[in-house]
Amino acid sequence: MTFSHDHVLDACFLGPYGENDTLLEKLMVEFLRDHVYWRRNFHPEDPPAIATAAAHHPDYLAFEARMRRELHLLSASLKKSVPFHSPRYIGHMASDLLLPGLAAHMLTLPYNPNNVCEDAAPVTVELEVKVGLQLARMLGYPSDPSRPECAFGHLTSGGTLANYQALRLALALKSFPVALRAARVPDIGLPDDDWHAFNLRQDEAIALLETWQSWLGSQCADVAREWQARVEAERVEQRGLPAFFATHPQLQPPLVMAPITAHYSWSKGLKLLGLGRDQLRLLPTKGMRLDADALHVALDHCAQARQPVLMCVAVLGSTEYGTIDPIHDVLAAREQSRKQGIDFAVHVDAAWGGYLATLFRNADGSLRARGEVAVDFVQFPSRNVHEAFAALGDTDSVTVDPHKLGYLPYGTGAFVCRDHRAMALLAEQADYVFNGHAPTDYMTRYRSLGQFIPEGSKPGASAAAAYVAHQVMPLEHAHFGRLTGATIHAAEAFYAAAQKFAASMNGRAHVMVPFEPDSNLVCLAINPWGNTGVAQANAFVQQLYGTLRCDPSRPLQMKEFFGSMTSLQPERLGAFDTARILAALGLDAGTLALGQESDRLMILRHTLMNPYLLDAQNGSNYIERYFDFLGSQIHALTRADAA
Ligand SMILES: *Cc1c(COP(=O)(O)O)cnc(C)c1O
Repeated sequence: MTFSHDHVLDACFLGPYGENDTLLEKLMVEFLRDHVYWRRNFHPEDPPAIATAAAHHPDYLAFEARMRRELHLLSASLKKSVPFHSPRYIGHMASDLLLPGLAAHMLTLPYNPNNVCEDAAPVTVELEVKVGLQLARMLGYPSDPSRPECAFGHLTSGGTLANYQALRLALALKSFPVALRAARVPDIGLPDDDWHAFNLRQDEAIALLETWQSWLGSQCADVAREWQARVEAERVEQRGLPAFFATHPQLQPPLVMAPITAHYSWSKGLKLLGLGRDQLRLLPTKGMRLDADALHVALDHCAQARQPVLMCVAVLGSTEYGTIDPIHDVLAAREQSRKQGIDFAVHVDAAWGGYLATLFRNADGSLRARGEVAVDFVQFPSRNVHEAFAALGDTDSVTVDPHKLGYLPYGTGAFVCRDHRAMALLAEQADYVFNGHAPTDYMTRYRSLGQFIPEGSKPGASAAAAYVAHQVMPLEHAHFGRLTGATIHAAEAFYAAAQKFAASMNGRAHVMVPFEPDSNLVCLAINPWGNTGVAQANAFVQQLYGTLRCDPSRPLQMKEFFGSMTSLQPERLGAFDTARILAALGLDAGTLALGQESDRLMILRHTLMNPYLLDAQNGSNYIERYFDFLGSQIHALTRADAA
């Protein structure tokens, strides 16, 4: 495969060798000085508080010495860190940091803005709201804040909290019409019973919220306050789940549906929300993609049993396999359910794959046709993948992690919802009504960010980093898409190399890619030739993984490559794919022992997000070198076994 080097990528990162060190150093010195001038110019008439001679005092010198010693120790021990920046690192979802993001983050740190509200972060709160709009546009949500139905997004510590925020918002919006009924609000056209109230479409629930708000606005202040208090008293956020559902016996606590490949943050989220993990229904997959037929069946059951559903989660880039759920089919299943009186939110967990949407976006925000996207790649995007991305704009909310495929420092996840008006229901102080000074304009409203987010104090530096990175590399195919496109190129090269490698291992080991990659994660299943037992195959892969895992007890330089490991569980994979994969590996399905360690097949997992994997400059690329290394390890292990 030919691969032309993209020179824009040369300036994006510090680089595997630290090639761009002078650029970063120049920026850092420039902005540190700039920060100091800012301090000096605040009130130049104030005399310096620290005497110029202070630096000679023994206490000062002792402090400095202690500080230096601890910093040296830290710096030395950090040399054991995982070299995410290196193209030899193809393990977990981490890589080098985008220079514009890293520089903006470091530039902002000494100002220490707290994005909980505008008072503590006059600049960066606004940047955070703008990042939400940048992401909304990438996802195909309305992103013009002058439109009433504009999307809204904010940053979180990570995808885990963003998923939790999605649950909070869905529950707030679903239960609010029930609270309006319980408070017997007159004149606003409430649903006939609790079941209908709990199964309004999100747009209907938002319309009802708007009607209620303007009805309140038409009352005099005292009456409005009284009605508002009555409704607040009935809300699930006030009463708690047990009391709320005891008052509404027509309603059961709702279920959350997710594919069995979903991240464990969903289990955490249901615990945190108090719904409990019993309410999380994990659906089977086909080839590690949500099985839409199984979803239909599950929803049918719910309709018959009058079991409400809070949300269906579709995963855009599963953490373990990079697979992409058919979001379009999930939306179609919801259409079907609506006919049976069941409605729910569709949330996309795109913590991993969200930024791949850049490949599908034109500069004007419009969607690119599959053929346009495909000209740059061998197989990508499959029909299913293109349809999934095309459907994003019709979902209700999305989680996306700038600290994964956005190449930004950790502590930067994001939650985006399609219609910002729903957010009023999350406000901690119920001043979402007109209380004289409740802001109506979008930007002003979200400057009190702390009202709406699950967290409190949080770093403005993360918002600055995301904003600057997205400004330098706009979230569409001609800019950021060159970076995400490079990850797909690398994955396609890896896939092709894996097939060649499999052929070359004939007679020594069975090697296969267990399912076609949807994105930039590629797994390898391996079994030594002649072995038929899953337990032995797993032991073999464990040994291989031993050479690829982070091992702090040995010098970093001893490590040739970093990979990761995951497993294929029959209940995740389905009977058909399990049989197919075991047969291709020469494994006896009977040795897959339930309830034991060999109840699953261990496989190697590779995240191909480093932009320099296909380094053309030095003749050989890292993917070829990885397979050479893997081949030598397999040789060594199979020789040792034979001896
Ligand atoms: C990484 C990931 C999460 C969790 O995100 P954190 O940033 O680690 O909290 C959730 N869902 C998916 C699909 C992920 O890949």
